[in-house]
Amino acid sequence: MEENFIPLSPDDKFRFSCTSNLSCFNECCRDLNQFLTPYDILRLKNSLGISSGMFLKTYTSYHTGPETGLPVITLKTDSASGSICPFVTPSGCRVYKDRPSSCRTYPLARLVSRNRESGSLSEYYMTIKETHCLGFSDGKEQTVSKWIIEQDVEPYNRMNDMLMEIISLKNQIIPGELDIKSGYLFRMALYDLDGFRSYLFTDKEDHDALSESDNIALKQDDTALLVFALSWVKQNLFSNASFYDT
Ligand code: SF4
Ligand code: SF4
Repeated sequence: MEENFIPLSPDDKFRFSCTSNLSCFNECCRDLNQFLTPYDILRLKNSLGISSGMFLKTYTSYHTGPETGLPVITLKTDSASGSICPFVTPSGCRVYKDRPSSCRTYPLARLVSRNRESGSLSEYYMTIKETHCLGFSDGKEQTVSKWIIEQDVEPYNRMNDMLMEIISLKNQIIPGELDIKSGYLFRMALYDLDGFRSYLFTDKEDHDALSESDNIALKQDDTALLVFALSWVKQNLFSNASFYDT
């Protein structure tokens, strides 16, 4: 696949429109190697009305990063049929309102770097020009920031930045592989939210530390639970991390 990457600042403009009238409609949903973040999974499993455990089992492949011991979760596709996304239909994406962050951001990609001393983040965007994608010809002109707002990428970016902070932390404190138990807890807390909820409410120590309002929020609200899970992982697996706390 031929691609051209062009760096853009938030105020830069680019021309792009994606419509079902284009002959490339759905072409971007094949030949996939789609990584999923914890927030992608939260949105997708709720969109499909299934548990995180069922979502992981049915729709994802999982391996452990050989150098980091961290989970790498991708959408399961069938290479014999062109690695087509399991959610694409002739009329488009069946999980459109909850599609993953990279699908939302496309044809842009977001790159983030963290200042090691201050912990502050800088973000950059790039256009991804793939030869099959006709959205650039005669597309609507817009700024990068307008695109990000219109595609509702912000909640994904916020959650993904919290994840990135934890991964940077892990790599600084434990540069090599995670042990098996920590790897398991990391994966369960962040990627299998319904499993984590059961764990949390049956583990006496964790449960006793929760206030009444935390109890209610974490039982009912998956986003609140994921924010809690990110902080739980930081505290329980990487507790020497005080240099990032502000
Ligand atoms: S214009 Fe690009 S993003 Fe839109 S359907 Fe065609 S290939 Fe996909
Ligand atoms: S989730 Fe939707 S937009 Fe993303 S690749 Fe699958 S069908 Fe296409």
